[in-house]
This record gives sequence, structure tokens and C-alpha cells, in this order.
Amino acid sequence: MPVSPESPSLTDQINALLPQTQCGQCSFQGCRPYAEAIASGVADISQCPPGGDEGIRDLADLLGVPAKPLNTEFGLHKPPSVAFIVEQDCIGCTKCIAACPVDAILGASKFMHTVIAVECTGCELCVSPCPVDCIVMQPAPPSNTERSRAQKSAQAKRRYDARCLRKEKEEAEKAERAKKKKLALLKMQAAKK
Ligand code: SF4
Ligand code: SF4
Ligand code: SF4
Repeated sequence: MPVSPESPSLTDQINALLPQTQCGQCSFQGCRPYAEAIASGVADISQCPPGGDEGIRDLADLLGVPAKPLNTEFGLHKPPSVAFIVEQDCIGCTKCIAACPVDAILGASKFMHTVIAVECTGCELCVSPCPVDCIVMQPAPPSNTERSRAQKSAQAKRRYDARCLRKEKEEAEKAERAKKKKLALLKMQAAKK
């Protein structure tokens, strides 16, 4: 497919059609790596269970290829769901917060945590890290199901991108602190000589 230099890259166009849950069921480390793999011809369009048949049809239309059924080796398409934390069982370990790609969980260390249902994509990535099994998946509320697929994926992408930027900034600040600490230590050692 011809792509002009001004238009979004093919990877961007494919990525825009993916659900942005970052669940990894397609066997890639998130939606964009899967989009890259489709664009470069190394992955099929039928590997995203959250996107289901509608998502496959969108990809087929974009790429001008025939649609096909979801490859269920990668998982089944499920009804929309959200995570729910049984708060009285939560020990406040924060592992679910670290696992959530869209910052849909609120809480602090040693305090109970809660899911912001309207931001939850139902990716289930927080479920297995919970050491006390107090996260369960429930049917998504109307606030989630009333939005179109495009609205939901755009919102999830905004939150995921914001989280990635924040993480990058935190890593850079950590590296800078470590550098300053090392320099201070070297100065101290030099002063002692
Ligand atoms: S939503 Fe689809 S494309 Fe994105 S990581 Fe999950 S399976 Fe892969
Ligand atoms: S709360 Fe859990 S299921 Fe919901 S988006 Fe975050 S990690 Fe995924
Ligand atoms: S992983 Fe489980 S126990 Fe830990 S903070 Fe999250 S909900 Fe609570």
C-alpha cells in the first residue's frame, strides 16, 4: 500500500485499529510491536483476541486483504470486562499498580487499592501478580460498553502513552541521581587522598 511521507506510517495506521489493552495475547509485547510485525509481514492479522472479528475486518480493509476468523490459538474474544478488587482482602502490595498499562488502579503501599472502572480495559494483566488473589474480572459497566471501540482504544492509547512517558522520565531521573551520587563519592575519595 503506498504511504505518503506526510501520512501516518503503516505501523501507526495499524496500531490505531488495535484495542490498546497491551495484553500481549497476540504474542508480542503490546499493540505497537504487533502493529510493526503486521506492517513488516511477519505476523498475521488474526492474532488479537480483544479486537476479535471486527478488529480483523478493520485490519483487512486497511491492508486490502481478505478478512479471516480469529486464530483462537492466541485466545478467545470475550465480552467486555473490568477488574474489581475485593478491598477487604487487599494487602496494599502495589503489584497490580505496577502491572496496569493504563494507570487504572488507585492506591498506595500498605493501603487498599481500587480500580477506576471507566479506565480499565479488561486486559487482566493485574490478576496474576496479586499475591492474595483478590482481583476478579466482572462484566464491564455501561460507562465502558457505551463508548465505541475507537473511543475506547484512543483513550487507552492516551493513558498508555502518558504512562510510558512518565516511566521514561522516572528512569532518567533515577539515572541522574545515581550519576550525582557516584560523582559525589568520587569527589569525597579524591579529597581524602
Ligand atoms: S490488544 Fe491485541 S494487539 Fe494489543 S497486545 Fe493485546 S492481543 Fe496484542
Ligand atoms: S485494572 Fe487490571 S484489567 Fe484493568 S486495565 Fe489495569 S491491569 Fe488491565
Ligand atoms: S496486587 Fe492485590 S493485594 Fe496487592 S495491592 Fe493489588 S489488589 Fe491489593
